[in-house]
Amino acid sequence: MSQKDKMAAIEPVRLGPNSKFKFECHKGVKCFTKCCSGIRITLTPYDIIRLKKRLQLSSEEFLAIYTEPHLLEKTNLPVVTLKMVDDEKEACPFLREDGCILYEDRPTTCRYYPLGVATLSHKEGADDEGFYFFVNEPHCLGFEEDKDWTVTEWRKDQGVDLHDEINKKWTDLVVRKRSFPPNIKLTDKAKELFFMVSYNIDKFREFVFESTFLERFQVDEETQAKIKEDDVALLNFGIDWLKDILFQQTSPEEQAATVSPKK
Ligand code: SF4
Ligand code: SF4
Repeated sequence: MSQKDKMAAIEPVRLGPNSKFKFECHKGVKCFTKCCSGIRITLTPYDIIRLKKRLQLSSEEFLAIYTEPHLLEKTNLPVVTLKMVDDEKEACPFLREDGCILYEDRPTTCRYYPLGVATLSHKEGADDEGFYFFVNEPHCLGFEEDKDWTVTEWRKDQGVDLHDEINKKWTDLVVRKRSFPPNIKLTDKAKELFFMVSYNIDKFREFVFESTFLERFQVDEETQAKIKEDDVALLNFGIDWLKDILFQQTSPEEQAATVSPKK
């Protein structure tokens, strides 16, 4: 059984914001960096915005070099995970002997660790209030350290709040899709648009400003100026637009047909 399979086999204990645990992680622990291998890290839109900026890549380049696409079983929505190095260790590409080379910009999943987040892991039950759980990897010795936390304190300490706040609209959209009846299927075009807005933000900017988008959709000048420069503003704008594409009365085909790129 692989590490990933083993993790999947563990039934999660539901934790809430006030749940308590003892934990500490520092360079002195014997297991230092062991958690950065053989792990599935689902990337959020804001993770990608930070990582591509840190690595000075376009979102397209970042996706091509560092990620793998997947389709979520229940929602049929596309997600991307960090591509681990293809060898026996399956280490994260950003891991070096002395730790993470982009620690300040590490993804949301790495910040939460050793906690997992139901919405990000797309677990059953994530539809309602959402919950946390221990990732529970046997090699993690941080639980033997004597420092007390609540889930809320841990989130604050790890800087997760900002990530969750920026990703909120996107997370709501993914969770909302989960509650749709299984017979409502997304077209390939709708999935493509979801992927572009969620993960390929530079491509979405090109789509907005270099296609007939602005002729088809009313976007005031102030918003245009903002989304031209600001990735987070563009992401929020894109998610609002996606909500119409994916969930409103108009069918995805009709909507998608109205925003064809310029030749
Ligand atoms: S991004 Fe950094 S913290 Fe996250 S798994 Fe990779 S090396 Fe570890
Ligand atoms: S395995 Fe646990 S204690 Fe060890 S470095 Fe990773 S998070 Fe810290």
